[in-house]
Amino acid sequence: MIVRRRWTAAATTAILISAALSHPGSAAAAPAPAATPITLAATETALVRVQLRDQAQLDRLVATGADLANRPRARDGRILADLVLTGAQLADLTAQGATATQIVQRAGDGSRHFADSVRAAQARTAAGLRAPGTGQRTTAAVGVDTLAVQQAYWWTTGGQTFLQAQVATTATDDPDVEITVSWRTADGAAGSFPLYRFEDSGEYQYHYNLPQPVPSRPVQLTATSSLGGVSRAVTPSLWPNATPPPLPAGYQKDFIDAYLTPVDIQARIKRLARQYRDLVDVIDLPSKTQGYRRNAVAYLGDPAVSAVVVESVRFGDQGMNGVQVRTVDPGRPSRPLTVGYRDRVLTVTLATDAAGKTVSTTDDVAAAINARQANRFRATVEDGSTGLPMPVAGPARLDDGLQGTEVPAKPWTVQALRLGVHRDGSRVGVLAYSQEHAREWATPLVTLEFAERMLANARTDPATRQLLEQVDIFVIPTVNPDGANYSFNDYNFQRKNLVNHCTGPARDPRYRTSWGVDVNRNYTVGSYFDGYVGASANCLSGNYAGTAELSEAESGNVIALAKAHPNIKFAMNVHSYGGYFMWPPGAYRADGRITLPRPSIDESTLFLNSARRIVGAIAQERGTVTWPSQTGPVADVLYSAAGNSADQLYYELGIFAWDFEVGNDRWNPATGEWEGVGFQPPFDEAHGESQEYAGGLVELVRVARDHAAAEAATG
Ligand SMILES: [Zn+2]
Repeated sequence: MIVRRRWTAAATTAILISAALSHPGSAAAAPAPAATPITLAATETALVRVQLRDQAQLDRLVATGADLANRPRARDGRILADLVLTGAQLADLTAQGATATQIVQRAGDGSRHFADSVRAAQARTAAGLRAPGTGQRTTAAVGVDTLAVQQAYWWTTGGQTFLQAQVATTATDDPDVEITVSWRTADGAAGSFPLYRFEDSGEYQYHYNLPQPVPSRPVQLTATSSLGGVSRAVTPSLWPNATPPPLPAGYQKDFIDAYLTPVDIQARIKRLARQYRDLVDVIDLPSKTQGYRRNAVAYLGDPAVSAVVVESVRFGDQGMNGVQVRTVDPGRPSRPLTVGYRDRVLTVTLATDAAGKTVSTTDDVAAAINARQANRFRATVEDGSTGLPMPVAGPARLDDGLQGTEVPAKPWTVQALRLGVHRDGSRVGVLAYSQEHAREWATPLVTLEFAERMLANARTDPATRQLLEQVDIFVIPTVNPDGANYSFNDYNFQRKNLVNHCTGPARDPRYRTSWGVDVNRNYTVGSYFDGYVGASANCLSGNYAGTAELSEAESGNVIALAKAHPNIKFAMNVHSYGGYFMWPPGAYRADGRITLPRPSIDESTLFLNSARRIVGAIAQERGTVTWPSQTGPVADVLYSAAGNSADQLYYELGIFAWDFEVGNDRWNPATGEWEGVGFQPPFDEAHGESQEYAGGLVELVRVARDHAAAEAATG
């Protein structure tokens, strides 16, 4: 008896799929989970793993600009999405059939984990301590359909062995085909598990499942389909089956004691430049960011009744915080509406009728401020207040609302470290850059740990010294410092930068945590503006693409650095979380799912073989294995991110450009579930991520060196 109904994994591509393109009839209800219900207080914000009712529910979320933390994915045929939402939003979703399965992170966790990490670092200081490829392809035409085992991989981590398989059926148009994988171990244990259909943008890709625990090394795997197809038996391969050179005795690592704010990162860059003068240049990138600044704003009136939003044209710190705004009744009949500004008070005198009653509307007041004080103020009618009588209100104080007191309120100079013995463009260049997304606090820890490992060991380890002789390394630890400052001080789930391009009612300060541009959707190749999928024109969306390609200083800086140093041939864009390792193509057009061009066979081979080496190096630290299903070209791992940086680096500048999503799911043996780690995990986890992925970046440097040597050898 077949109990599981078909499942359309188009879901796993989230933001990328417009509702109109979703597979029709994919709304089969998922099985009910057994977990205890998880709820949030109505106004509490948290990062929650939610089992969605169906594809349509995901499409609605995407259409309304939901903040999806990473790709929704399948677990046992259910659609799981990690969402940043309030308790009220969660209650809405639950009422529509969704179920929360894990609170990954609560809003307060970020600051608590940050404070914990700083305390731990202080304690250590006080104690005197130093600061996929294709597996076998086997087909056998037995039944109605033919099955090809595209991947069958096993590995062991934390004492547990896992098996993952990917199988394609020739019955691509039949959404009801069920595929089951049977496995056997060397000592005779056997078992089976179902695979699930994975569609993307309405097109069948393959069947797969999350890694499944098995008692020991599997030696045989067979797939069968409900149509009668049976694959040939294959022997699963060891993944990634690549091991970096062992660390030499005395190798120095662990330079990360706490989470680092942009101010901390600035200080770290300065210290490294001072300490390793002969090996380091600091590069000031050309476009200063807006800085940790916002316009000062206030509600004039009561937003629950009727109000006008008044904001300063200049930033709050430019003398506008504390400016007051008010409406007054002239106390005389038949007066016109007037606006005056004196002694830091904006006074709107309301119009009156012949009986002396005030008659100005909210729209009149907003228009009058915009017409007569355009050099100082902007006003918009609060959403829902249009056409209502304007009350006598205020004075209200304009304020930028920013909480951070240790952040300089001025344009920010983003910096890159350049490491190497020969920093003259004569050696192959490697670029590692992190924190395009503000809330991904672990990512600068990765790149800074990597940088300091290279520098410290260059003095003591001949192999590291030789790498710095042969490779020219560029590191941008925080691409988006303004957003990061906001994430540390104001709203820990901030993803985008701090530039507010919204107009009209979307400038209402109630939307302040949704403003900003998604830096990694603002690049020029395969962009939203070119018709690619996975970015938005909605200024409040988590994937807002900006006003134009490279409209933002942050994205412009990454490209400027790469263009100024044409010896850069390899790049790693470091994000969190989820445990992904990807490369181009990273975007496709919705219509027909046309991806950006595929790399050549030779380049694909380089991407894959290098990836296996790097995955192996990551695993060396604490056994974390990035799944084969999450290692590969973005279009095969199935994700479209219109206008991302790796695509511009690869297609326009010819750079082998990868993306890490550090922070792999952790296996919970008690529940038999993979659990998400979130953006700002307890520091021990972030520290672990920094150590393992820094090892991955060191391996990337070796990849670059080997590639350059091979090029030189073949002329
Ligand atoms: Zn990211």
